Amino acid sequence: MIGPVKVKCKRCGREFKSDEFTLDPVYKMMVCRECVRERRNEEFKAKKSQQKEVSKIAQETQIKKEKPAGWDAEDAEIERAYKAKQQTALPDVERIDNQRVKYKCKKCKYEFVFNVLTRVPGRCPYCGAEISGV
Ligand SMILES: [Zn+2]
Ligand SMILES: [Zn+2]
Repeated sequence: MIGPVKVKCKRCGREFKSDEFTLDPVYKMMVCRECVRERRNEEFKAKKSQQKEVSKIAQETQIKKEKPAGWDAEDAEIERAYKAKQQTALPDVERIDNQRVKYKCKKCKYEFVFNVLTRVPGRCPYCGAEISGV
């Protein structure tokens, strides 16, 4: 009695009967039926996870569209913080009343009173540098 001839699969190294081998179009060689089954499983899983990924992205964009108010509030908060920071970044200006400030020239450090409403004087009376930040 001679048993069925077993052939070693070149891909996975497992032994199968020679009639269980097929020429796989993806591997481009003779592989056992197990290899073919595994490949099909992998392809199926890959397709499924791809679909999952797509629907996840669709869901996320949906959520963003549904909550514009939250984004606006966040933007306003950032803008408020930014403005507050800008104000504190003006140490050379000291308010006298609602239209005059004590201004220190950024170039020559000369201190003078500047009217923010009439914008007078237009330039530093000492060195002629432009007044900025007020
Ligand atoms: Zn195999
Ligand atoms: Zn000056």
